[in-house]
Amino acid sequence: MAVKPRAVKVCDVTIGDEALAVMAGPCAVESREQIFAAAAVVSAHGARFLRGGAYKTRTAPNTFQGLGRKGLELLREAAEAHGLLTVTEILAIEEIDASLPFIDLVQLGSRNMHNVPLLRALGRRRVPVLLKRGFGCTIDEWLHAAEYILQEGNPDVVLCERGIRTFEHATRFTLDVAAVAIAKARIGLPVIVDPSHAAGQREWVECLTLAGVASGADGLLIETHPDPDRALSDGPQAVPLSRFGDLMDAARRVAEAVGRSIPCGAPASTLLHGTVAT
Ligand code: PEP
Ligand code: MN
Repeated sequence: MAVKPRAVKVCDVTIGDEALAVMAGPCAVESREQIFAAAAVVSAHGARFLRGGAYKTRTAPNTFQGLGRKGLELLREAAEAHGLLTVTEILAIEEIDASLPFIDLVQLGSRNMHNVPLLRALGRRRVPVLLKRGFGCTIDEWLHAAEYILQEGNPDVVLCERGIRTFEHATRFTLDVAAVAIAKARIGLPVIVDPSHAAGQREWVECLTLAGVASGADGLLIETHPDPDRALSDGPQAVPLSRFGDLMDAARRVAEAVGRSIPCGAPASTLLHGTVAT
């Protein structure tokens, strides 16, 4: 039997409403110029959250690991300047307290989905959590991970389907669109889709975005970068900022076809330090 769906409120944004919550920005915060450029464009096209990793879980240790605290500060500053909320990952319990002032929605990454002490620690905080599905995990395992957070007393969990590992190598991961409906029906929490990590190449991000919206996702998490060829992480899957508006227009058409909406953003020029100029 399907569980009654529940929306999760993050500041003034409700995830699980008729309107999809769009979260977008670079894989990692790299510089002030980069994150401010991303914030300006994504807010102008309807995103409500600015994403950008400060602490990264990279597969290889000799790659860019994020700017750490400086990255969190830049993310918050850029988001505030453009009226956005922040979503970013933390990797360890020791990072939680110092990081929370900079984060509105705490991302728990695919590689950390089974980190029970971290799940429990986030469950004890009153902070909304975005729980990504482990790429080698079943839907059941993912929902049990969410229960660790819920059972500690934190009801504000949003799930994120970001693709699972299969024998198929044409994409980086295989986006499991059925998981969106199944997870929602079983646990009643909002589910968003990350087409970027599933696609692995920007060429396939649009079709997975549209499939995610059609599957009933309550939001999208999308990587976009001012200059993807120079990105320090996940460049191949980043949509150039110059293409982000077209991607949102396409997503909006599908959202409307399935009885949902994606807000139109305020033109960048009308946004002044987080408030819409009147
Ligand atoms: C990310 O969002 O940049 C990320 C590392 O995602 P995932 O945990 O899904 O791999
Ligand atoms: Mn990434």
